[in-house]
Amino acid sequence: MNTDLRSDTFTKPSPAMLEAMFSAQVGDDVFGEDPSINQLESMAASMFQMEAAVFCPSGTMTNQIAIKCHTQPGEEVICDQLSHVYIYEGGGIAFNSSCQVKTIEGNRGRITANDILEAINPNDIHKARTGLVSLENTANRGGGSCYDFNEIVKIRECCLQNNLPLHLDGARIWNAMVAKGETTKQYGEVFDSISICLSKGLGTPVGSLLLGKKNFIQKARRIRKVFGGGMRQAGYLAAAGIYALENNIGRLEQDHQHAKQIAAALSKKDFVAKVMPVETNILIFELTGRFSAKSLEMELAKHGILTIAISATQLRMVTHLDITSEMVTQLISIIESL
Ligand SMILES: *Cc1c(COP(=O)(O)O)cnc(C)c1O
Repeated sequence: MNTDLRSDTFTKPSPAMLEAMFSAQVGDDVFGEDPSINQLESMAASMFQMEAAVFCPSGTMTNQIAIKCHTQPGEEVICDQLSHVYIYEGGGIAFNSSCQVKTIEGNRGRITANDILEAINPNDIHKARTGLVSLENTANRGGGSCYDFNEIVKIRECCLQNNLPLHLDGARIWNAMVAKGETTKQYGEVFDSISICLSKGLGTPVGSLLLGKKNFIQKARRIRKVFGGGMRQAGYLAAAGIYALENNIGRLEQDHQHAKQIAAALSKKDFVAKVMPVETNILIFELTGRFSAKSLEMELAKHGILTIAISATQLRMVTHLDITSEMVTQLISIIESL
């Protein structure tokens, strides 16, 4: 069996998760009649102490719905230049919301309240109206980096003072919370909307949730339908989400340990120029000399280790619940032998 470190989206549902899915109660969710979806939505909302939630097929959809709900055409969205909403969602901000983006060159995917303050446009007819601030935690392209929660609080203050909504792309929020010892309630208090993924480190086959105030989520349900994301007996998927929230959060610490162990082995090799700090389950490192990112990717693939070259010189590995300690030990001995 391959050791698939390409992404934490490659996880397959465990037998216990499949069992939960198989025995789910379902109904037509477009009519609000799927008991499993209703249960998942209220469970997630109450975890974050937010008013409501809506279940969607993907994190791209939850982000894009949030942006659509928060903005008007012609406005500007402030985010880091490496944000998923900007670089990995097919130009969706322009396509779906007719907005433009003001990017900030942050620190490994993270921006500060000061950066945002400088990026807010003045009330001037030449300028786009600033409509939204979007943060990402953990920051994917930042190598799984985590925000300092104090900075998020400052950003919240800045947004309140400037009458700007604040969205969180929390595809890997659980990894951040586990790594930093934070709580869901803390996040629920400072963001107007939060997108969370169940299909990354939590290991479900499909599904994301958008959380927010009741009237915001009502609007989001309408946009979800317009985007073609209204699902019928999707309670089978919600059951996997409920199972994941109940069983798969505590174990994320193990993924973080695995990533740190692999990073330690890599940092001893002469062909590794630099390993980005490993804070959670994503590991990005820079190559030099004997290997390009592509050639190391191919070399590792010969041993059944799947990774992704994310640039000519950078390789990425992501640990997750289908990566066992035995696989990590085996990978470390392969790295040592190269
Ligand atoms: C994976 C991911 C998403 C959502 O991706 P989907 O594949 O559409 O579910 C959003 N933001 C970040 C940072 C991600 O890593």
